Amino acid sequence: MDFDYKTPSRIISRKGCSTDLDFFGSLQPSGKILLVTDASLVKLGIATKVMEAIVEAGLDIIVFDQVEPEPKVSVVRKALDFAKGESISTVIGLGGGSPMDIAKILALLLQSPQEISALYGVGNCQGDRLPLILIPTTAGTGSEVTHVAVVTGDDGEKSPIVDATLICDTVLLDAELTIGLPPRITAATGIDAMVHAMEAFTSGVRKNIVSDQLAIRAFQLLYHNIEEAVHNGSNLKAREAMLLGSMMAGLAFANATVGAVHALSYPLGARYHLPHGESNALVMVPVMQFNSKKAFPLYAALCKIVHPEQNESPERALSNYLLDQIAKLIPALGLPTQLSAYGIGREDLEELVMGTLHQARLLTYNYTPMEKADIQAVFESLL
Ligand code: NAD
Repeated sequence: MDFDYKTPSRIISRKGCSTDLDFFGSLQPSGKILLVTDASLVKLGIATKVMEAIVEAGLDIIVFDQVEPEPKVSVVRKALDFAKGESISTVIGLGGGSPMDIAKILALLLQSPQEISALYGVGNCQGDRLPLILIPTTAGTGSEVTHVAVVTGDDGEKSPIVDATLICDTVLLDAELTIGLPPRITAATGIDAMVHAMEAFTSGVRKNIVSDQLAIRAFQLLYHNIEEAVHNGSNLKAREAMLLGSMMAGLAFANATVGAVHALSYPLGARYHLPHGESNALVMVPVMQFNSKKAFPLYAALCKIVHPEQNESPERALSNYLLDQIAKLIPALGLPTQLSAYGIGREDLEELVMGTLHQARLLTYNYTPMEKADIQAVFESLL
């Protein structure tokens, strides 16, 4: 299978690397650093620690901390106004997928101004971006290694921007930053990463030998550590495993694809404001059940990796076993499994189905072709 693998040029994984004075001292930017984060991370002291290290390293920094979860496009315009005329020469994104995605877009638009709506879709970014460093605080989206940035557009739809220009230069993986991540966010973001690994491994279009190896190892790390990370968040080893798994799942899906779980998840995030990981967790099992008609040998392969004791079973039984285990795992992590938990009822189904069909690109990547009636059936199974 041919491939054209795109990755950041440097990935550093070390306890304390997000406050490493030598690293920041080596940057020698020609202008100011723009740190993009969210207000909670400042309040929790997580962003403050990194800001202090940057200042102590002798660099000039300004901070934009108004990125909200599941960011709307308006925050990009607000941040551009904030940074205008500040001679920014490097952008650092610190946080979950939301601040990292906004940092990616700002690094481009501060260097190569374009109307943001012109960037939606695949390969529409023009020109260069500023040097870009990403520091994840969730494990997670894998945004730190992907060529994707997701905003909700003026039309209320999630509008991914997909372009190699958005792959950052340097990633700092510091698991200590994730120690205080609350159980529910740990669970939701961890399931998001598991979905990335699973969908990359079962991608209908671009899976390849490298993405497969990354997806398998990522799934294994995430599957075996998510419960510990949720129920005993101070376990640094489990946190490190989750952060590595999430980064590797990001590399896998960025160079394969995601599929129908994401297509069905997007309207739940954009229209009903579910956190991205929670909407993925909600639709993961019924979409896998639908896909298993064709994808069962691949689910069986994943099952053999995480449940070697089942190796002797036939492929269909292995696939079913994995799905049963995931169906038990999601509520055990404290995540809802029905639409009613979010006040969503039968009257909302038409809008959810239409919103999913809007994500035509992701549906075409799905391993098993999914029609409107199949999407409807998945949402109905969640009533
Ligand atoms: P997020 O960035 O929206 O953060 C969720 C919440 O967690 C926020 O309130 C934040 O303050 C809090 N938080 C983050 N780190 C914390 C920590 N260490 N301790 C305590 N609280 C912390 O969440 P996310 O799930 O990481 O990102 C979701 C966004 O990423 C969505 O917009 C989604 O569409 C996008 N996404 C992007 C990609 C990509 O490749 N670019 C992939 C998947 C999802």
